[in-house]
Amino acid sequence: MAEIDPIQCAKCGACTVVCPVFQASGRESLSARGRLHLLEHFDPAQASAAYAEILSQCLLCGACSSVCARSLDPPARFIAGRERLEKTAGCHVLLRAITRKALGNPALLATIASLGHPLLDLLPADSGLRLRLGLPQNGPAVSAPPSEKTPGEQSRHPTLAFFPGCYATHLHREIGAATERIAAAFTGNPPLIPKQQCCCGLAAENAGDTNAAKRLARQNILAFAGDSLPILTSCASCYSQLCRYPELLADDPEWRAKAQAFAGRLLEFSTFVAQAMEADPAFHFAAPATARTVVYHDPCHLRFRSGITGPPREILRAIPGLRLSELPNGPQCCGQGGLFHLAQPELAATIRSRLLYQLEQAAPDLVTTTCSGCLIHIQQGLVHDPARSEVRHLAIVLAELL
Ligand code: SF4
Ligand code: SF4
Repeated sequence: MAEIDPIQCAKCGACTVVCPVFQASGRESLSARGRLHLLEHFDPAQASAAYAEILSQCLLCGACSSVCARSLDPPARFIAGRERLEKTAGCHVLLRAITRKALGNPALLATIASLGHPLLDLLPADSGLRLRLGLPQNGPAVSAPPSEKTPGEQSRHPTLAFFPGCYATHLHREIGAATERIAAAFTGNPPLIPKQQCCCGLAAENAGDTNAAKRLARQNILAFAGDSLPILTSCASCYSQLCRYPELLADDPEWRAKAQAFAGRLLEFSTFVAQAMEADPAFHFAAPATARTVVYHDPCHLRFRSGITGPPREILRAIPGLRLSELPNGPQCCGQGGLFHLAQPELAATIRSRLLYQLEQAAPDLVTTTCSGCLIHIQQGLVHDPARSEVRHLAIVLAELL
């Protein structure tokens, strides 16, 4: 676990300009600078519930890291602090524990998903339970996880493996199906989907449960160890977490090497599509039935952690009949932040409202993104807006234009 070095922060305040939580709350203690200052005197045994709450009120979006003149990584320090505080994590600890347990257990998540279908039909669209469970507001699209298909059954020559992530596997199965169709369109074969794969571990690590995150990382590395195929990932948050495995397992020489090999195979969805389009100039997505204005929402995990902002825009610009538009104030955080929207629903809603205002100004026909979490959070925010834009995962948008 990273030690806190109080000397490194210059207290310049550059991070406060970009921090969604600081902008929403106006509280210095909720900026990266403020939290780092609090960590200078960190004693988990003495930490109050209020201290734990402040540590939990971070999206771990990475915006502060992207502008820090000292090249600090404040989110990594907050995760380390949460790990030490895990046993005294404040009033939302039970909720976080329940969610973490579900996300870390594919069998349990599949059971919740299957049991949830009639529940979803009964629950009003704005039910707090839907929000608390992170369930979709519209059209449940809940299904059991895909059964494992051996390479011989699903494809004689798969050239990609696929990591769908929890949402696309258990709750929004159509995202996984759309990704598979696009992968097949470009490679000629459906991707291999190893059954043993599990949650990426982002939720567990965000909640301070590093041991669970490591266990999930090792399970995923083993699940994809049967071949050396590139691993396609259509969820931005999952991709970001999978990329972290070498760092997460850095203290274990054997697993660090495996994690590095695993991370070297990762292939982010929009990057894959943009590269495939470039490699095949004859390929074109079809135009939609009617011309549409589209806004691409940058998931923070992809924008700040991986710097991937160009490929999705390149793809959308290349589609006839789609007009790519940008938000008046540029990309905005949606406030979802892994478990942040569960642990801090009021702050998450405030941050989301800033994005929704920008969307209202841009008034696109369609909002698309590559993060399942952002997708659901934005959909939930727009559920009562009669003039709302359609909000869809990029894979679904593209699959319909094949
Ligand atoms: S930008 Fe970096 S150095 Fe400046 S206050 Fe924020 S964390 Fe500290
Ligand atoms: S990770 Fe995001 S929410 Fe957390 S302090 Fe940095 S900018 Fe603010």
